[in-house]
Amino acid sequence: VSRFVLPVVALLAAACGASASDQQLKPAESALVGVTMPTTSSERWIHDGENIKRDLEAHGHRVDLQYAENDVPTQVKQIEGQIAKGAKLLIIASVDGSALTKPLQRAADARIPVIAYDRLLRGSPNVDYYATFENFRVGVYQAESLLTGLHLRTADGRPGPATGPFNIELFAGSPDDNNATFFFNGAMSVLKPYLDDGSVVVRSGQTDFQSVTTLRWDGETARKRMEDVLATTYRRTKVNGVLSPYDGISLGILTALKNNGYGPVFPIVTGQDAELGSVKSIIADQQYSTIYKDTRELATVTALMADAVLKDRTPPQLNNLNDYHNGVKVVPAFLLNPVSVNKANYHKVLVESGYYTDAQLR
Ligand code: BGC
Repeated sequence: VSRFVLPVVALLAAACGASASDQQLKPAESALVGVTMPTTSSERWIHDGENIKRDLEAHGHRVDLQYAENDVPTQVKQIEGQIAKGAKLLIIASVDGSALTKPLQRAADARIPVIAYDRLLRGSPNVDYYATFENFRVGVYQAESLLTGLHLRTADGRPGPATGPFNIELFAGSPDDNNATFFFNGAMSVLKPYLDDGSVVVRSGQTDFQSVTTLRWDGETARKRMEDVLATTYRRTKVNGVLSPYDGISLGILTALKNNGYGPVFPIVTGQDAELGSVKSIIADQQYSTIYKDTRELATVTALMADAVLKDRTPPQLNNLNDYHNGVKVVPAFLLNPVSVNKANYHKVLVESGYYTDAQLR
């Protein structure tokens, strides 16, 4: 567990009175909580689901945990089903953040509070709280690591020995996920001066968010786009770096690169989530970096939040009351810190914190 965040979580737990007494809730205080997650196709959401279930149960609650497999109608049905089963609170990591206004209205009609989990729920007044990571900062870290990998900047942020120009390409996440915009804007805030002075060049010309998104964060979609870009733009020159917002997309990009003769030395490819395969790829000098988000901590704060709401208290674990406007209102949020990971620090960040064991990474 990262040194910075664990004390925060511990403090919050103490602040809202979560203690051994929570383990001894009277049955009347034990509520059914509906949790919906987007997909089991990515490890992080499996961990999120397991962690949140365990933490809510530790608070004495019962949990109905469902996965929508990236299908919006399925998620709508799951949420409606949880309302029908008598859920007293909903925790939702959406497939499409703007597609749930109807079930959210139903929840509000039944006076069921809603916590948006990791991804903001947009276009609805019926969202009470939001728990996530510093999403803009994720993008900042991704772009910084791309520049560090290209030696345009040093690891501690000074100008690096290289001057470029380097060819880079940009990928963004799913356009229906609010986080994708935050990641991209964070990354572009770092890349802009380098694009302006020509030390990095996007040869495909595809630099605006809409032209670089990857629907549902699908790795295969990313592989195809990368193959297209290589075929049209890189017949006579090489790509040196790729901004990738998520490990599953990075794997698709690396496959496209391998299919086109790249390797054993690869362009700098970023990522996110510290998924097992990508951490192994980093150790093997293929993917360059990832962003670690400790889903154990996100689950812990969300369960504390949920427990406070169920007991009619305002969650004390809120640290951002301004930045997450969902199109209808500002949703009070708690933001955790992401950590940038590459080959130099993976052992310290991922193994010494107990997130992975050495054996898993072999
Ligand atoms: C999450 C990322 C994840 C992506 C794809 C985003 O909403 O914040 O951690 O990589 O979805 O699952």
